[in-house]
Amino acid sequence: MITPSDRLKIAKSILDFEARRDKAGHLQIYKLPAADGGGTYEVGGINERYHPEEARHLADLINAGKFDEAEEHAIEIIGTFTDIAGTWSTSTAVESYLRDCAFNRGPRGSARILQRALNVKDDGVVGKITRAALALKEKDPAALLNQLRVAREQYERDVAGRDEESIFWKGLVNRWNNALKAALAFIPGDGTKKDALAVKLADAQPVPIPASPAKTSKMSLEEKIDYYLESIKLEDLIPINEGLDPAQESTMVSLLGSPKLPLTTTDQPERASKRVRKLRLTKKVCAHVTVTGIKPSVESLQTVLNAVFAVEPDLEEILGTAGMLNVRYRKPTSGKKSTKISNHSWGKAIDFKVIGHSAPGNTKGNVPRFIAVMLPHFNALGWYSGIGFHDTMHFEVSDGTIKTWSKDGLFEIPE
Ligand SMILES: [Zn+2]
Repeated sequence: MITPSDRLKIAKSILDFEARRDKAGHLQIYKLPAADGGGTYEVGGINERYHPEEARHLADLINAGKFDEAEEHAIEIIGTFTDIAGTWSTSTAVESYLRDCAFNRGPRGSARILQRALNVKDDGVVGKITRAALALKEKDPAALLNQLRVAREQYERDVAGRDEESIFWKGLVNRWNNALKAALAFIPGDGTKKDALAVKLADAQPVPIPASPAKTSKMSLEEKIDYYLESIKLEDLIPINEGLDPAQESTMVSLLGSPKLPLTTTDQPERASKRVRKLRLTKKVCAHVTVTGIKPSVESLQTVLNAVFAVEPDLEEILGTAGMLNVRYRKPTSGKKSTKISNHSWGKAIDFKVIGHSAPGNTKGNVPRFIAVMLPHFNALGWYSGIGFHDTMHFEVSDGTIKTWSKDGLFEIPE
């Protein structure tokens, strides 16, 4: 979370990018060229056209020789105007760059730059899809900053209609790069990765902006179903489940308690462990998927699906489930009998299908596309794919993730 002093530091650096100063370092009133479009004058980038009262007040302070007061006031104006960006990101580095975008291109423009960098539809409205994509991408803030820098240039070309022909272009490019350096400085570390990024920046590829949300958007429902049932070679997806392990029965029993044994291979919800019953939550997580599970898994599942639909918006129309909480013994795909407790018994595993079709079991060397496209998103949030034990429909919260959630107190029952 950003501190008040970081907020002022960011606003100050934006002011420094913008400000014309006299030899003593005092803010100056700057007469704008007509092509700027910001009115007749500005102080520290705060111009007459978009911020008339603030610009007037700053000019009055400067004319009265109250330079320190003008400086402080300008920083507060920039901070307040860009606070919207502080409601999007939880990374100080990313917020720093977004505030700079917001000051230049307004809240809506900066939202569109962010959405382009995240490769989601750039409608300028930061809703749950944008937030979910941001939550995933800002785990690597340096890489996201790189994408933001590329998206910012593209936005200027596509939307503002400026390019190398513009007298402002060189200044803009410098500004974008300086803001990037200022943002990278908020990322702790030895700087190796940051230097590598700065070098890479020159050949950064433009962010692909889907003209329509996805290639599926014009398909009929049947065509979408066929598309998402197509087989993808497992070869093309590996490695999967990197650094993740299926949850051990011992872990589950230790941290969430045991269901009342013996079980059968059909669901006996009343035999769930006490803790599971207390944490139980039923939620509609998307159009055709309503699940019952333990609260932290259902919430995590929602986050994963939001991220999936950000890049595969049409998948929601056809995605169905074959169940989450299911208190029973395992039903091995081999057909053998088992007395091992299914991981569904703790409400932290889910089986998927395409609506109107059966759920895929052991699909051997292939994986249907709807599972393939969800796989990296589940893995990214610590869910293990059942492909690892020949159960293609299945995703479960991994052993390590369960242990972390327990340490974080997510399984505590409110008294
Ligand atoms: Zn399953």
